[in-house]
Amino acid sequence: MSDYGLIINGDKIVTEKTFAVKNPANEEVVANCPIATKDHLNSAVKAASDAFITWSKVSDDDRAAVCGKISSAIASHSEELAKLLTQEQGKPLEGAGSRFELGGAAGWAGYTSTLKLPEKIIQDDENAKIVQTRKPIGVVGSILPWNWPLMIAVWHIVPAIRAGNTVVMKPSPYTPLSSLRMAEIISACLPAGVLNCVTGEDNLGQWMTEHPNIQKIIFTGSIPTGKKVMSSSSASLKRLTLELGGNDAGIVLDDVDPAAVAPDIIQGAFLNNGQTCAALKRLYVHDSIYDDLCKELANAASGIPMGDGLDESNLQGPIQNKMQYDKVVALFEDAKEQGGRVLCGGDIPNEPGYFMPYTLVADVNDGMRIVDEEQFGPLLPIIKYSDLDDAINSANALETGLGGSVWSSDTERAAKVASQLECGTAWVNGHGGIAPNVPFGGVKCSGIGVEFAEEGLHEYTNIQIVNVAKA
Ligand code: NDP
Repeated sequence: MSDYGLIINGDKIVTEKTFAVKNPANEEVVANCPIATKDHLNSAVKAASDAFITWSKVSDDDRAAVCGKISSAIASHSEELAKLLTQEQGKPLEGAGSRFELGGAAGWAGYTSTLKLPEKIIQDDENAKIVQTRKPIGVVGSILPWNWPLMIAVWHIVPAIRAGNTVVMKPSPYTPLSSLRMAEIISACLPAGVLNCVTGEDNLGQWMTEHPNIQKIIFTGSIPTGKKVMSSSSASLKRLTLELGGNDAGIVLDDVDPAAVAPDIIQGAFLNNGQTCAALKRLYVHDSIYDDLCKELANAASGIPMGDGLDESNLQGPIQNKMQYDKVVALFEDAKEQGGRVLCGGDIPNEPGYFMPYTLVADVNDGMRIVDEEQFGPLLPIIKYSDLDDAINSANALETGLGGSVWSSDTERAAKVASQLECGTAWVNGHGGIAPNVPFGGVKCSGIGVEFAEEGLHEYTNIQIVNVAKA
């Protein structure tokens, strides 16, 4: 039994079977989480299908008003949710941690409520009137990761609901508790069945992608899982938005002031302990400033207070889970064996919790695991280059294409370099900044489709053309 319940048709459903959710800061159990059976999933999809009949006909203004209420409800419960998020996810309450994430979730919901889906008159003359409208798709299945669980849930749920769809969401088993509680809070703002939330074991996501009565999947997670989602969604030709992993390169040109850019580079690399899809994960630095920048980066990355995120003096928490921790440590050990020079960090505490300080490894090259594989943790490889075209080629060499950045005192020159990067967003003198009015998505294997802004909202609609011939 658990204090937490699945949210199905507006009800909180306690399940017989549960699993333990652990705090990555101390490996202690936070609470038990319900395990949904296939019948629970079917009930959630049925509730969402039934609710779609009426919700899809609610006026645009009324749906916008409800999304505004959702934003206020998240904001008024943000402290409760932030503390729960810190306990199960590990991120600190302070800094760019749980309170920051809850602020983002409420802000994104509020902005999304203001977006419009107007009709478009394509032709209106003596021959015909042709009008394009955007209609909701149906039941949207939202499959979520563990890195920014609440903010990403809002990115999935609110535009779906705003556009007239209904939702079945599935949090990651690593971070289900705050999502279940947030779903309960959001669901109270909505008619029964518009938002449902199921949690469980590893087969639940696949059941969703195979379910014949889910019409669209929005998925944020790894590239291998994204490919599986695409494959199993094909039987019913589901609409898909896939926001997958990245291995973003940053290129530092020869004209930067190392002391000025170092703090922003560290922030772009280690936002959320590096567990951010569009974090800076490979840094290419021109040889003329390489040594100076390495020194400044080590200064900026050292001495960050690390520990249990509930202690407000800490600004860095643990890596979220054991699997991820083992992966990051293995990449670090491999880099050292291959001759990588540790500039700072690397001293891993021998106590409970998945802690690793911000760690910079210089003198590494393309072809090493630490460069070619997404670390998704507090570990950044630094690579020296002398020819800018070589650095651009390296940045573009991988299958990923989420973000990238160029750092320079000459922003026009940097913007020209940025435009040569094969990625969805190319930043100049920053990395990872996103906003609800700016479309965001990946190219190549980093994803399909975009989130945010009108373009993101459109992903939750089908176009219908009404073509009226005139006599
Ligand atoms: P996954 O991509 O495996 O999991 C993300 C979500 O997908 C979870 O809810 C998971 O649930 C679900 N899922 C897993 N398999 C399937 C399937 N076959 N069909 C449908 N849904 C499925 O990420 P992990 O948590 O395992 O992390 C692995 C790596 O992914 C990380 O090391 C990191 O590199 C990357 N990652 C990228 C993120 C991003 O923001 N782009 C976010 C998180 C991770 P369940 O676990 O129950 O199967």
